[in-house]
Amino acid sequence: MSKVNVPYKMYLTEAEIPKTWYNVRADMKTKQAPLLNPGTLEPMTAADLAPVFCDELIAQELDNDTPFIEIPTEIRDFYKMYRPSPLIHAEYLEKVLGTPAHIYYKFEGNNTSGSHKLNSAIAQAYYAKKQGLKGVTTETGAGQWGTALSMACAYFGLDCKVFMVKVSYEQKPFRREVMRTYGAEVTPSPSMTTDIGKKILLAHPGTTGSLGCAISEAVEVAVKNPGYRYVLGSVLNQVLLHQSVIGMETKAACEKFGIKPDMIIGCAGGGSNLGGLISPFMGEKLRGEADYDIVAVEPASCPSFTRGKYVYDFCDTGMVCPLAKMYTLGHDFIPSANHAGGLRFHGMSPVLSQLYHDGYMRAVAVEQTSVFEAATTFARCEGILPAPESSHAIRAAIDEAMKCKETGEEKTIIFGLTGTGYFDMVAYEKFNDGTMTDFIPTDEDLAQGFASIPKANGEYIV
Ligand SMILES: *Cc1c(COP(=O)(O)O)cnc(C)c1O
Repeated sequence: MSKVNVPYKMYLTEAEIPKTWYNVRADMKTKQAPLLNPGTLEPMTAADLAPVFCDELIAQELDNDTPFIEIPTEIRDFYKMYRPSPLIHAEYLEKVLGTPAHIYYKFEGNNTSGSHKLNSAIAQAYYAKKQGLKGVTTETGAGQWGTALSMACAYFGLDCKVFMVKVSYEQKPFRREVMRTYGAEVTPSPSMTTDIGKKILLAHPGTTGSLGCAISEAVEVAVKNPGYRYVLGSVLNQVLLHQSVIGMETKAACEKFGIKPDMIIGCAGGGSNLGGLISPFMGEKLRGEADYDIVAVEPASCPSFTRGKYVYDFCDTGMVCPLAKMYTLGHDFIPSANHAGGLRFHGMSPVLSQLYHDGYMRAVAVEQTSVFEAATTFARCEGILPAPESSHAIRAAIDEAMKCKETGEEKTIIFGLTGTGYFDMVAYEKFNDGTMTDFIPTDEDLAQGFASIPKANGEYIV
């Protein structure tokens, strides 16, 4: 691809905000495996899911056939506050690297929650409101999802109960206060307010909590309180669907400004931003209309795609959620304590897992000091202080651009810049002090996590 003349920041107009989400499942020849009821090992039906999730979101979760789903006007109205998000030509990064590659990034950090998570939070809050519910419950680790959901609930006047992993609650008071400012009730997890919390605290007094435990508490509160449902910020099909707004806008901007990507790169924790960014491009690939090199980037310390097993596992430590077939490290897997860069979920979106398994995309694992090096390079030339999670994608984009420098190839690379890193300065501090270390789990370390994967008749469930 030869040099194109595009503006530094490429914006769509307000009228060009997508009117539909794109459901990539409609174009998948092999669909992702269904969620299973852990008791019966039968696929979860809408009726099974109804006590936990909002009705319309269940319909979206189970819809493998409708390619385009209309974005309700109320959600598009909210999107107008911070969308369309810019597609940015990384001119300054290209110069610093001296690469012939063309690098672009889709920036999702331009809202108060600081990440792409608001795209799905507002949709989930809208459907809860439409169903006449009082409120929603959720968990949050570092706090991005809880913040996004608090903003969305404030907008629609919904009650928002957030279980925040205790160690984050104590160490990240600022995110907690943002959530409270938007009206959310934030409880450190595990707590004495739920049965599962009490049980965990009794068994492990002084525990600082985990995401899996916070999920279990949030689900319990949703199920026990009339008028409440549980919502989740990643992994699920519905979340990928909402996040497809990122990819729809990116594709529209590529068409408007004459950009033809060769490669699309995104960080992968639960897979929602990557799934959303690549959706329309993956659709073309699945339909045989175009080809793209699609790359998931994960931390070497939490390597679900590159070293996990593709089997059924629980999404949560408490084993209250359905079983999902996904690349997993085991629901008891906990990344090493020195891992500071986010993306610490043990599993991966079932949709992306299937696409990866079928060879439609590849994955790379990167080490955290190299991620923060990339983040620093990027911040110094492009100005934006990236979230550690997003910086995994920056690392891979820089690596690919440097390969182009060696070969002289003028590849066009698009990556997802999912958010900003202002609340991650403790991690940056470690990097700046030179005390950040890398940790790559050994096969023995991984075996401990794999041991928690459920089996039926002595075999993994596939
Ligand atoms: C939550 C988060 C991620 C990872 O989540 P995915 O579901 O894998 O997209 C990435 N970047 C930022 C800034 C986040 O907040």
